Amino acid sequence: MIEFFALILVALVGIMVGINFNKYRIQRENIKRLDRLNHSYFKGLNYLLDDDSDKAIDVFIELAKSSSETFEPQLALGNLYRRKGEVDKAIKLHQSLISKPNLPEKYRTKALLAMGKDYMSAGLLDRAEVLFTELVEIEAYTPEALFSLCEVYQQEQDWIEAINTAARYEKVSGRKMRNEIAHFNCELAEKSLQSKNTKKAQSYLNAALSVNPKCVRAKLIEAREFKQAKKWKKAIAAYHQALEFDDIYASEYLQDLSNCYQNINKCDDFKKFLLEFINTYQGISPVLVLAQMIKKTDGIQAAEKFVEEQLINKPSVRGLDLLLKLSLENSKKEDKESTKFEVLEQLVNKLLEKKPNHRCRKCGFGAKKMHWQCPSCKSWGSVKPIYGLETE
Ligand SMILES: [Zn+2]
Repeated sequence: MIEFFALILVALVGIMVGINFNKYRIQRENIKRLDRLNHSYFKGLNYLLDDDSDKAIDVFIELAKSSSETFEPQLALGNLYRRKGEVDKAIKLHQSLISKPNLPEKYRTKALLAMGKDYMSAGLLDRAEVLFTELVEIEAYTPEALFSLCEVYQQEQDWIEAINTAARYEKVSGRKMRNEIAHFNCELAEKSLQSKNTKKAQSYLNAALSVNPKCVRAKLIEAREFKQAKKWKKAIAAYHQALEFDDIYASEYLQDLSNCYQNINKCDDFKKFLLEFINTYQGISPVLVLAQMIKKTDGIQAAEKFVEEQLINKPSVRGLDLLLKLSLENSKKEDKESTKFEVLEQLVNKLLEKKPNHRCRKCGFGAKKMHWQCPSCKSWGSVKPIYGLETE
């Protein structure tokens, strides 16, 4: 009996030693594997630091084939390439991650989302659309995929699909896209106006105003159309509504509003409005428009005097430019040889030529003219007139 227990004891000790030895062997193998991975990983990083991105990407692709543990860093590396504008490399890297055998589904969908964004950056919109649609269908990364899909439709100028996708995105993410949806409707309205379908255009403008009741752009399109149709009173009402929504774009249409008032011989009413508006509006445009009106009714000298007075409270290069133009016009009548104002006016003009009048409040992109969608960061309604000494 004792021998029997001794035998069991020996067997147990043997098993324990075997298990421990096996554990030790697995640990050693893991350490060796990690060493190999770390070595390759740092080799790749070194290539990156040495700016040899081609060699770096080859190392990372080899890593992707051999292990799933490097998934996240490589995904991030691919995203980095995309941001750097090296879209080909981003696609190559993300493609290698996706094609890896036995890649867990959560990783595959994450890489699909990244590759969709690569395709978008490369301008391969059809391919991006396919990937984002697949992700939406299988309910993986739904909010991100819907948001990106909406971006694809915007680039394709498929505004109907952009509206539908934005509405779906609002539902799943809880984030509002009213501003964007209103702009998509304005784009559709502009398209309808190009094909002379005013009824359809008005229905899109109504839709824009129903999602964003203070959509300045929709009101300004209405005002412009009334003006073109010589419906002056309706145009005036629409321009004033736009000012009430947000007067930040006033510099874009004060002259048009002035023309409408002139056409119904109500210049005095508009002058009265401008005199009040000057006190609340921070830019120089109402001063410039009013000065032109004073010039017509009361003459150059009266206009000059008005601008001079206004510039004390609102120092502005554009105001100075008008003052110089008025002075030049005035002085030419009396002294034809006077070039003083001309030189100054040319100088000021050159200064104004180089300055952007509008800037995107999201990315800082500067532009000479107004854009409803920022050409750089693609945000809607973020480009606004610049207020300051040398601008509005
Ligand atoms: Zn921008």
